[in-house]
Amino acid sequence: MSSTLVIRDVHLAYDDAQNARKVFDVVLQDGRVARILDASEREHHGQEDNGAVKIIDVEGKGLLIPSLCHAHIHLDKCFLLDRCELVKGDFSEALEVTSRAKAAFSSDTADMYARGQRLIVESVAAGVTRMRAHVEVDTIVQNACLDAALRLKHDYKNCCDVEISLFAQDPLFPSPSSLQPGDNYTLLEKAATSQHISSIGSAPYVEPTASQAKSNIRLILDLAHAHSLHADFHLDYTLDASSEPLIWFLLSDLRARVRTGRWHAGARVCVGHATRLTLFSPAEWSRYAHEVAEDRLPVTLAGLPQSDVYMMGRALAPVPRSTLDVVRLARAHGVGAALAVNNVANAFTPQGPPDPLALCPLGVALFQAGTKAACAALLRSVTTIARVATGNASPSSLFPQVGDVADFVVLHDNPSVQDAACNPCYDRTTIKNGRVVARRRGHVELHPH
Ligand SMILES: [Zn+2]
Repeated sequence: MSSTLVIRDVHLAYDDAQNARKVFDVVLQDGRVARILDASEREHHGQEDNGAVKIIDVEGKGLLIPSLCHAHIHLDKCFLLDRCELVKGDFSEALEVTSRAKAAFSSDTADMYARGQRLIVESVAAGVTRMRAHVEVDTIVQNACLDAALRLKHDYKNCCDVEISLFAQDPLFPSPSSLQPGDNYTLLEKAATSQHISSIGSAPYVEPTASQAKSNIRLILDLAHAHSLHADFHLDYTLDASSEPLIWFLLSDLRARVRTGRWHAGARVCVGHATRLTLFSPAEWSRYAHEVAEDRLPVTLAGLPQSDVYMMGRALAPVPRSTLDVVRLARAHGVGAALAVNNVANAFTPQGPPDPLALCPLGVALFQAGTKAACAALLRSVTTIARVATGNASPSSLFPQVGDVADFVVLHDNPSVQDAACNPCYDRTTIKNGRVVARRRGHVELHPH
């Protein structure tokens, strides 16, 4: 049956003052954007709320943007803080306490499902309709995280595209002298044959040696190609200027694959963290932009600011506040990078909600970026660029376009792009395929006397 949803009297993401003040009616039909109309002409095109037509009246107070996307989030490791005692709070402790918590995952799958469910529900309520969801596969958890993710993907398929990414957090090589990968790799290789997964990835920095880290990258790219998956790396997660940035190895290896037909068209590589790249000179960034553009390498960087800034550089003095500056990268080097939440309530990132939009005010402060153009760049990093990072390019603009997939979030109390990025409002309506899938409303009771 044909369905129509009209978002009435809503602002669109214009940056010039005249258009930014205007309000529009956006008509969604059968899961696509059908028409975008100047609201002042409504008497000529007006539609009434009835059985076939639903209307969301934004009353000129809110903004319509593409729905939010988690470019990078850990579905299995969320909401673990209550069972992970932090004493030092550093990275090695986070690995250790999370490993201990992981040991219980396979014996309590109901708990894992419930934590993942909470993450999905809170994310959709915030405006998310797509996520790259990392789930670990290794000798500790076997396939328990994957199995829970597959159930969640199915159960929430009408609200959110849960794009499952198999993730090797632990080393693929068992010891520094190993020439061949061990049991963790065998399990990952087997899991890669599963249906309904979209990506495979690893954290090469955990390998015992630099050469094994490079082999780790090759093995993951091989598996991605063999099973038509996207690839996803936690890469160059360091602020040690003397360390070799593995991004150059990754680009070179990927280029060879692209040039010799050993990479599927449409398959993308997402690189998360990449804090080592914050030490790049302008010349190194020019080299990066040139290498990616020359062969149209399908690579997207994803800064994970809540984790990067919380965890990195603790031994340095002064402690640097380093994460990929997505605003400057876009402006100075034409490099579009995503911002992503990464972890929610665990030892790697104890703070922050599962709301990608909450990264925008953090970015305004970290990147000293509060102009209208900077705010638009921040919104793109959690919407359109985040989608590209996960292998999906529609909607492709902050503006609705006729024919676009109708995946949007209404920010009911943010009338402009700048307001939305600087101070995201609470009240939101999430729309997926032209259908309302979540309404989030705050309720204030004031008792002045
Ligand atoms: Zn991560």
